[in-house]
Amino acid sequence: MGNSLEDMVEFDLRRRGITDARLLAAFGKADRKAFVPALDREKAYEDRPLQLTHGQTVSQPYMVALMLQELKLQGSEKVLEIGTGSGYQTALLAELAKEVWTVERIEFLATTAEDRLLDLGYKNIRYRLGDGSLGWPEGAPYDRIVVSAACPDVPDALVEQLGEGGILAVPVGDPNGQVLVVGVKQSGVFEKRRTIDCMFVPLIGAQGFAHWPEQQQKDRAP
Ligand code: SAM
Repeated sequence: MGNSLEDMVEFDLRRRGITDARLLAAFGKADRKAFVPALDREKAYEDRPLQLTHGQTVSQPYMVALMLQELKLQGSEKVLEIGTGSGYQTALLAELAKEVWTVERIEFLATTAEDRLLDLGYKNIRYRLGDGSLGWPEGAPYDRIVVSAACPDVPDALVEQLGEGGILAVPVGDPNGQVLVVGVKQSGVFEKRRTIDCMFVPLIGAQGFAHWPEQQQKDRAP
């Protein structure tokens, strides 16, 4: 659907079961058009991922909404986000939580997103350039952690940095597809469940993929 921001919120989110009023209001405020490349501005409200530079993507709005819905944000939380990308989801998190700590491994994306979010007036975000598969230990514990790239397994470092009662959402799987794993830390134990199927670009790092397995296979071919 998605010819306007209002249509995107109404048809691609609300009428498909995203009912949390705070979540819908955040999507109505953080305008996706500000985060997509200039050449794709007319596609900004379409419910699909759009290409950034360096082979990365701005995620599909419905998928972002499903992930954020799992976080059950009330407004008082400290959130760690892995994979800043364009900064779109970062802006949504900044609308929904008290503070956001976001990590991106590609310098161009990290600085572009930071400049953009500062221009838009967001003041409750901290930025780091680095390997987010190791989290951001200095800010721990976090009330919520969300990873917007695919992992081979739930990174131990992120479970360690999750606070008591905290929620972690992370796509886990291989290049052909992943499942969004959502877990809660209760009395020090991380209890996880598998939710929906999803498809993300890889988390490249010490507790992610060394590089994307397809590429690994190609490199090994004679
Ligand atoms: N949520 C983002 C948005 O709204 O634009 C899209 C994120 S994109 C699907 C995944 C991002 O994760 C990419 O920007 C990629 O560079 C980043 N990434 C991959 N491995 C990473 C790592 N180890 N640490 C931090 N970021 C990583």
